[in-house]
Amino acid sequence: MSRMSRAPDRFHGIEGGHAMDERRAVLCPYCGASSLRRERCETCNGYFDPLSRQATQNHMGPWYIRDIEHPFRPGCSYAVVRAMALKGKITHATIIRGPSTRQFWELARRTPGVAHLLGLCHACQKPADPSSDKCPSCAAGFILDDDRQYLGLGEVRELPPVARG
Ligand SMILES: [Zn+2]
Ligand SMILES: [Zn+2]
Repeated sequence: MSRMSRAPDRFHGIEGGHAMDERRAVLCPYCGASSLRRERCETCNGYFDPLSRQATQNHMGPWYIRDIEHPFRPGCSYAVVRAMALKGKITHATIIRGPSTRQFWELARRTPGVAHLLGLCHACQKPADPSSDKCPSCAAGFILDDDRQYLGLGEVRELPPVARG
């Protein structure tokens, strides 16, 4: 109690800080915001019931879509990325990351396994068919491992020593 009265300016749970707003009872498992409502998140509108949690869990995976409106969303599976690309919710200029980019942010049109769904080869940028498994121009492969546990990270390699001032 004394903590709350002493430092009311330390609550950052709603405005995007690192700490939970302890005046709000529920921590949203999807976006990390704290909520007064117990059934549904006030920030992302996600429902907290077990079936909703399972549905979200089913769609989770190692792919991320850069979205400043929803920066704390969980990653999604390749199946979700694929469906979004085919529906036009991911475009050539959408910034994404996933196993085929080694988790570095990349334009969707340069992302293996995603660009061809948008009609382009990720490697040579020439037209490609969403249903084909490789580029007709440069033979780059379009098939990805859709294992949702696989992050696609490169190996850890030792860095050269850096002189620090
Ligand atoms: Zn939320
Ligand atoms: Zn190509």
